[in-house]
Amino acid sequence: MDIIETVGAILEYGETCNHCLGRFFGKRSFSLTNEERGRALRITREIAVNEPHSEPESESCWICGGELSRTDAWAAKVVEAVQGIEFATFLIGTRVPPLIAESEEMVWSDLTLRDPEPLKAEMNREVGKAVSALTGKTADLKRPDIVVILDIAEGTVEVQVNPVFFVGRYLKYERGIPQTHWDCRACKGAGCEKCDFTGKQYADSVEELIGRPVIEAFGAENAILHGAGREDIDARMLGSGRPFVMEVEAPRRRSVDLAALEEDINEKAGGRVAVHLAGWADRKTVETIKSDKAHKKYRILVEIEGPLSLYELQSALKALKGVTIYQRTPQRVAHRRADKVRERHATEIAYLGEEEDGYVLEVTGEAGLYIKELISGDNGRTRPSLTEILQRPARVSRLDVVQVERTREE
Ligand SMILES: [Zn+2]
Ligand SMILES: [Zn+2]
Repeated sequence: MDIIETVGAILEYGETCNHCLGRFFGKRSFSLTNEERGRALRITREIAVNEPHSEPESESCWICGGELSRTDAWAAKVVEAVQGIEFATFLIGTRVPPLIAESEEMVWSDLTLRDPEPLKAEMNREVGKAVSALTGKTADLKRPDIVVILDIAEGTVEVQVNPVFFVGRYLKYERGIPQTHWDCRACKGAGCEKCDFTGKQYADSVEELIGRPVIEAFGAENAILHGAGREDIDARMLGSGRPFVMEVEAPRRRSVDLAALEEDINEKAGGRVAVHLAGWADRKTVETIKSDKAHKKYRILVEIEGPLSLYELQSALKALKGVTIYQRTPQRVAHRRADKVRERHATEIAYLGEEEDGYVLEVTGEAGLYIKELISGDNGRTRPSLTEILQRPARVSRLDVVQVERTREE
């Protein structure tokens, strides 16, 4: 079948609009719209077989029902739906009713067409062009700020606002604040008397203390903190702070001044938490920061039972430094981590001095080293430990993270 015969065979299925007719040859020739292709093919066939010209009723197109002649109306709907949302780039997607897809696919296979384009692709492109013309914004297939889905069956549009990301470091000056929000243990977040019907185990988290001003500044639905590891709830995070990426969900504003935001966060956190915001990031940064094997330096206060000479302590610390530490998952976290034995190292252990209630040590450990258990031994689950070497109970009574050393560039 030559191209004229193929056009004739297509038109026998029923009234076909120029868009849909042209789309069956959509991947042939360039710089034409499908509508132009369709009109040219229709007229060429009419001349070839010497028939009078007839313009199709696009409303009665058996494939699209005239949908492709309504792309301007769809574009207007999109523009209305994105009112009040800040974006520079967008992507249009189309939910095509199964009947439409089946109709055109039937013709493709009946006539073994080689170069057709699906309706979805034409709809996305043509509505995209019209939206660009109306708004001056650019279509972006890879990383659009917003995605707008056209639902043909419902006649509606849905807007999905993609998140924005920024990186920074946080400091935690107060003990007893978890890094991220924890559901209440009693009600699992539903709200009960124990949690004062907040659904939360702790009133505040680092994530919320930073996140509340973020949500406000971006007009967002939520803000998720992805930290490069986490410190214990009762540990402070000092020194240069812990790197994190903030994921801001469904923001209505994107061009937020990070310097002003940093100031606002720090003021509202009232000295419990503070941040330094470094700049914008993307989804990839989240993976990088999560997989980061950062060494951490801790300052700890250690209580040891019974009298002890400085010499004994120093030699015990020397015996711990650099050796392989076998740590079975600590009892205190066993309920939420797999039970296994990990091999870790404490690369530096320094004695800083004595306080009234214990010894101040600074320990640099590999990512994942459990410091409290390195000291206490966790009933023999961590070996060796300071307790084991000294042969008397030792425990951490205060712990601060003073440095998170990143192994990769931020
Ligand atoms: Zn059509
Ligand atoms: Zn509760």
